[in-house]
Amino acid sequence: MRAALFVGVDQALEITDLTPLDPGPSDVVVEVGASGVCHSDLSVVNGGRPLAGPAVLGHEAAGTVVAVGSEVRLVSPGDRVITTFIPACGRCYWCLRGQSNLCELAFDVAATPREMLPDGRTATAFLGLGTFAEQITVHEASVVPVHSDLPDDQLALLGCGVTTGVGAVLRTAQVRPGDTVAVIGCGGVGQAVVQGAALAAAGRVIAVDPVAWKRDVALRLGATHVVDPAAEDVREAVLALTDGRGVDHAFEVTGSPTVVSEALDLTRRGGEVLVLGMPRFDSEISIPALPFFATGKRVVVSKYGDAQVRTDIPTIVGLAESGRLDLAALVTRRVSLDDVNEALRAMTDGEVIRSVIV
Ligand SMILES: [Zn+2]
Ligand SMILES: [Zn+2]
Repeated sequence: MRAALFVGVDQALEITDLTPLDPGPSDVVVEVGASGVCHSDLSVVNGGRPLAGPAVLGHEAAGTVVAVGSEVRLVSPGDRVITTFIPACGRCYWCLRGQSNLCELAFDVAATPREMLPDGRTATAFLGLGTFAEQITVHEASVVPVHSDLPDDQLALLGCGVTTGVGAVLRTAQVRPGDTVAVIGCGGVGQAVVQGAALAAAGRVIAVDPVAWKRDVALRLGATHVVDPAAEDVREAVLALTDGRGVDHAFEVTGSPTVVSEALDLTRRGGEVLVLGMPRFDSEISIPALPFFATGKRVVVSKYGDAQVRTDIPTIVGLAESGRLDLAALVTRRVSLDDVNEALRAMTDGEVIRSVIV
């Protein structure tokens, strides 16, 4: 079974033939149909997010179940599934109180060895998934069954980016009709935020990105206005579009800690910044204390869009099937597993919204 293996920071992923370890009673084996290449994978490779190798990267996929352990109840062979990078066990403290995006099983699945290397060492799977592979063995809590005719390359995006972006709007921010929204960063997650804001009937959706074609995509997907931060003062532009007040919700989707405080400057008094991008593990977010305190603003982390994947992923599939959500527009490149390092480079250089390995 071929897979892309992380062996160390700043080293190319190695396409390696691995031997899957036997699945446990709660595990399922999935033939991967498509896997998105996400910024979090890149963060592992460039050291922004520590991970002990060797590990198979990739955490956003769709595929078909080919085998299940004796205690598996959620899926059967032949089912189409979408992976979920935080499992939803349905039993832990967080799952039972409607916060499956904080499921405690996440730690166990990430630490479980899944593959054997040719030299006899074992490899884990990133976030318990490791979807840069032909086949994966995962806990049943790490997949969500879906009934859909949409292609795998579109469904794969629901495993991370789309669910995070749409969830941040509908679940975390609970944007209401007429609300004003700014989206800083128009990659895969940012474009999903734009689409979620349009679904929520936001009054103004202001997309901010230095890349012209990404702004054009945002306009096509529901942004009402775009701002080029390289050419305009973003704060002035946003204030001009919101009667001088600032937006109700500013979504930070760049992963830059300094952008969090910049996003605060774009929000109205009592407004909120939703933090979606993951900053480097060793960075800190700094906020000027007096204006923060005096203006009653909030900074909220939207972890996996606060999505409750067992219900929200099928809901998002339905929105895509009825044309309310455009997944095809987010798939800018389809590549093979052998091209994974090139796909990571293209992401670094801002050439794509999403590359998907098929
Ligand atoms: Zn991701
Ligand atoms: Zn749980």
